[in-house]
Formats: sequence, structure tokens, C-alpha cells
Amino acid sequence: MNAEVAPSVLPPELAEMPFDNRFLEALPGDDEAENYRRQVANACWSAVAPTPVAEPKVVAVSPEAAALLDLPDRVCESEAFAAIFAGNQLAPGMEPYATCYGGHQFGNWAGQLGDGRAINLGEIVNRKGERWALQLKGAGPTPYSRTADGLAVLRSSLREFLCSEAMFHLGVPTTRALSLILTGEEVVRDILYDGHPAPEPGSVVCRLAPSFTRFGHFEMLAARRETELLRRFADFTIDTDFQELESPSEGPDRYLGWFAEVVSRTAHMVAEWMRVGFVHGVMNTDNMSILGLTIDYGPYGWLEDYDPGWTPNTTDAATRRYRYGQQPAIAQWNLVQLANAIYPLVGDAKPLEEALAIYAKEYTARWQEVLASKLGLVALDPAGDAALVKEMFALLQAVETDMTIFYRRLADVDLATCEPTPLEDAWYVPTQATPALRERLQGWLSLYASRARQDAVSLAERRARMNSVNPKYVLRNYIAQLAIDKAETGDFTLVRELLDVLRHPYNDQPEREEYAKKRPDWARNRPGCSMLSCSS
Ligand code: AMP
Ligand code: MG
Repeated sequence: MNAEVAPSVLPPELAEMPFDNRFLEALPGDDEAENYRRQVANACWSAVAPTPVAEPKVVAVSPEAAALLDLPDRVCESEAFAAIFAGNQLAPGMEPYATCYGGHQFGNWAGQLGDGRAINLGEIVNRKGERWALQLKGAGPTPYSRTADGLAVLRSSLREFLCSEAMFHLGVPTTRALSLILTGEEVVRDILYDGHPAPEPGSVVCRLAPSFTRFGHFEMLAARRETELLRRFADFTIDTDFQELESPSEGPDRYLGWFAEVVSRTAHMVAEWMRVGFVHGVMNTDNMSILGLTIDYGPYGWLEDYDPGWTPNTTDAATRRYRYGQQPAIAQWNLVQLANAIYPLVGDAKPLEEALAIYAKEYTARWQEVLASKLGLVALDPAGDAALVKEMFALLQAVETDMTIFYRRLADVDLATCEPTPLEDAWYVPTQATPALRERLQGWLSLYASRARQDAVSLAERRARMNSVNPKYVLRNYIAQLAIDKAETGDFTLVRELLDVLRHPYNDQPEREEYAKKRPDWARNRPGCSMLSCSS
């Protein structure tokens, strides 16, 4: 299994992947070829090969992600696929490298970070003409690994794999995940950082994105005052990943137009997170994609009971900087860091500030659209509908209420009677729903009903619209943990089942009701379910 597959017997789809590796061609690499930890100046990448592993075993493959690489099922089931995407063998055309970036972590400049456990395999242009960069996460140390090992454990890889694909099917901009492969080796982690290190199964995820460039790539070059390289990186990004902007070939407007687009995409991404109840958990600037994609699934979580103050990340427990309700503001803070980084290309703060100002406007507009669609309304009037929205969020917190179930069930409420019965399913502590509270809820439902009537949308149409933006299935924290518990015993049925359930998050799947259920009580305070650390 671990031996290399002879190139002559590689399936042609793997032997002839159309790599063009433009990143390596366009940007300067590190002169040093040895793989040891170091600071890398005047270069954007270092050549580094994945570390071979003992015994690759494919846990799951996303068929939709495989299709992006024009890989049919038959190929994904081959020994060669396992060997290549575990990092044991390079397919023809692959030129592995790790990139150099920095970032602000929890609000402070952290200096050089870089691909510490991600190794890029190259970029292909698929049959549709789309560019996809391939990256292994957990395939061994790189020059950017600092004090860590470059590896990943099954629990964290499984969470990244499933969530990437779940987000895609939910319609949220995201990097993709092709495969989840066990390495057959153990990796030691201290999950709660409390002095109890233990071995866990090691694994590798292959992720895909048009580009893995982060805000931190530009910040690093700016911090080192490598202005010409900063310009080259920005030019490369604009020409490769933002072709549709038809940017001027030079001058400040080239960079300003691009920055405005990044602002807009970021606002859209965060509004989408808020729509589905996703909490990233570590919105450091090195984890912000320049393409406005959700990237780096670590201690993320899904809102269960609606609580804007919730964060899944125990490492952030003290200040809760990255809590659900603060994500829009943090994205803006991160954009300010990006603006600072590209300032040398513009040479004037004012237009950058103007572009930044678009963020608040654009986010607010997006969020109003999202809320309107979640409520099945044509549009929200920010002033006229303010009371309706405010009271809804107050009620969601007055009784601990599952956000996902609430919106889904709201579509079932009979607006003639305004009976709140369908919503009861969303309550975690039904005793909190006192008679007074039920009355208040009914009052809100009447207000909502009269508002919905104004839009003159039929019941069936409103329901269909709501159900197309209010998912029935999200990757609930406790369900991901159940899949991990099983996978750690060698049973991968639940991972595969969830991958399949989450392909149709907006559809009722009657035989799969169990995956739409609210968090059981045992999971309320269990590590992995409500509390996650950065240890991965
Ligand atoms: P994160 O908070 O996971 O986005 O990681 C921040 C930085 O730490 C990035 O440069 C990662 O590549 C690096 N990193 C995280 N975990 C590891 C690991 N196990 N080995 C090497 N580098 C790591
Ligand atoms: Mg990261």
C-alpha cells in the first residue's frame, strides 16, 4: 500500500493532470532548498516535499470536489490516489511548495507564520477552464512550521473535510476538500492544553481553492518593506484571480479597485456565515482568504441556541474576540490591516479609507437581504421593520432556542392563528417558556404575520423561499463529534453518511431526521461539542 505506484500504471487522469503552477512561475522562491525552520525574506515560497507516511487509508472523498479535478470515482478508489493525496508520491506535474505569510493573531502582529502544515502540490486548469490549486494539510513540516510538527490529527482533519463540503452545499463561499486520508501513524496532541498529551490517529486532507492567498501574504511583504515584491504579488493576484475586474494596468486605481472587491467579497462571506450560524473561531488575518472564501477550519462551531456572544474556541474564552456576533466587525478590522499592507501601492490613505467605508454599508445591506430572506419577506425596511427584528432576537434568547430549527419551523407556523407550537421543537429549556413568554411570542408572530401579508406572497411560496435559505441540516458540533468518535475506532460510516446528508442541506430528508435534531444534553459541555481548542 505504501509503496509508490509505478508511473506507468498510474491512471491516466492522475498521470496527465493539467498542472501549470503559475504561482511558482510568477513569484520568486526561496534559494534555500533544505527543509528546516527559518525566516524567509525576499521570496514568496519554499520548495518542500510532503513527508511520506506509513500506510495511507482513504476515509472519504468528496465526489463534487473530485469532479473539479476531472477525477472519476474509479480513480478516487485507486491505490495511486491514496498514495498521491496522502503525500507519498507526486503525480507528474506536481511541484510541492509552502508559501510565506504573516498575520495578526488575536489582534497582535505575529510576524512570519506561513504554510506550517500545508504543502501546495501545484495548480491545474480543469476541463471547464477553472483554476484549482491543490494543497495537502498535515503532510509534514515545512520551513514555516516554527515549533510545531506539520501534522494533523483525524479529529481536526475530519472536521475540516466535512465542514468545507457542507459550507459549499449551503452556498457559503469556501475552500473545498477533496479527500480525507489516514496516515497509519500516530500524532501526539494535548487537546485541552492541560498537560495530558496523548497519541491520536494522523491524517491528511487535500483541499482545493482557486488560490490559497491570504491577507497575511500581503501583510508579510509590507512588514518586511519588500515593496516591489508586494507589488508583484498584488499584480499576480489581480491578473490571476481577479481577471473579471478588468483592472487598469498600473497606478493606484488598479489596487484600489481590487481592494474594493476584496472588501465586498469579505462582507458577503461574513453575511453568509451569519445566515447559517457559522462561527469561524480564529479570524486572524492569516486565516482570511483574499478571495473571500472561508478558509482554515479549526476550532469553528455552529450556533445551536442563538447566542451572539458564543465562541467555540476555548483559546479565545477570555475575550471572546471571535464570537458569533462580532464576526462582521472583526472582518472589518482585518480589512483595515490589509489596507495598511497595500498602502505602499496606493500612496494615499484617503481612497483606502473610502473603500473601507464600503464595508459597513455593504455588510448592512447584505445582512438586511439575508434577514428578509430568512423571514420569507421580499425586503426589510431597516427603519419600519426594526422592532420586528429586535423582538425576534430578544425572544430567541429569552428561551434558549436553536437557531437553525427556529427558522426552519417558522415556515410552518400558521399565520392565521399564530400558534407557536411548531417552534417548540427549537427550545432547549421548555420550562423557560412561561405563559407570559408564550403570549409575547404569539404577539411577535401576529406582527410577523401582518408583515408577511403585506408582501402578498402565498404561504407555499413563502415556505419554499424560506426553506431555500434556512438549512435543515448543518454540521452540528455534537454530530461532527459522534463521527469523530466512530472514526477513531475505525468505523467511517458516519463520516460518509454525513458527507451525503450535507450535500442537500435545504431538503427534507425524512429518513435522516436524526441529523436535524437539536443538541442533546450530554453534549452541552463536552469538549469537541461546545468547546474546541486550537490543538489540531
Ligand atoms: P492556525 O491558527 O491553525 O491558522 O495556524 C497559525 C499558524 O500556525 C500557521 O502558520 C499554521 O501553518 C501554523 N500551524 C498550526 N498548526 C501547525 C502544526 N501542527 N505544525 C506546523 N505548523 C502549524
Ligand atoms: Mg491558519
